Amino acid sequence: MRCAISNARNSGMVLEPELENALGTVDVVGISVQYTERYMNLLLPTSCIGCQEFQTATICQKCRKRLKDSQLNRCAQCALPLAHHEKNSLCLDCLKNQPPFDATLCLDSYGGFLTDAIHSYKYQHQIAIAHGLFDAWFDIHPKELKKDQSVDVILPIPMSQEKLHRRGFNQSWELCKLFSKKLKIKSNWKVLKRIHIEGDQVSASKQERAHRLNNVFFINPNNIDLIKNKNIVLIDDVMTTGATLSVIAQLLKDFGAQSVHNWVILRTPKKSSC
Ligand SMILES: [Zn+2]
Ligand SMILES: [Zn+2]
Repeated sequence: MRCAISNARNSGMVLEPELENALGTVDVVGISVQYTERYMNLLLPTSCIGCQEFQTATICQKCRKRLKDSQLNRCAQCALPLAHHEKNSLCLDCLKNQPPFDATLCLDSYGGFLTDAIHSYKYQHQIAIAHGLFDAWFDIHPKELKKDQSVDVILPIPMSQEKLHRRGFNQSWELCKLFSKKLKIKSNWKVLKRIHIEGDQVSASKQERAHRLNNVFFINPNNIDLIKNKNIVLIDDVMTTGATLSVIAQLLKDFGAQSVHNWVILRTPKKSSC
């Protein structure tokens, strides 16, 4: 084992500092699972989910820096990029028509360099990508996550049974499980339910989406106690117009939720702000 590590170092491979430190303490006899994972990362290097460059981490330092930069000047409530003339922490849309959710955090904009990674995760079932997105999320939002320690429950955006059978997994629930495990906060996929509607939500306008979404979501009556007076986080992969998250946040507040925050991976900018 020491020989393989030394070969990798001698080959000029650049190791992440964290991995370099860990490998320095590897003991052949008492090797832990943690070290095994890191060692396997070294033996089976991957490409960054952002820039596809060959390296040992799921997402490289250069891409993490780009993500940190993309957090500047976003609306605190809906996470849309703020225009130059918008001097408040909220965009004009949120100031005019306050959404029912209280805040939104995202990793980057839809259409940016993580878009292919989201498509591979969602449509090609590359579930391992969720770990990279999740790691980057914690890297980018450490302070916000500390502030949100008051979160009571983390909920996924529900998928209809028809769609779940067709796709094979709920991308929101897979992410939700990672957040829940890391933060040690309970999550539950049974609280929110959704009935199936035909039609393509992706290409629908904001008004069409809002109209279609009326009466699509409902709350499992057995889980009301998980909502009333609770601080809730909704997890989603892409926030497009925000219509789905608005409808769900309103529903949760109608059932007594104290606050509803959105944690999404990508946020679609408005056409005018592209
Ligand atoms: Zn990269
Ligand atoms: Zn806004």
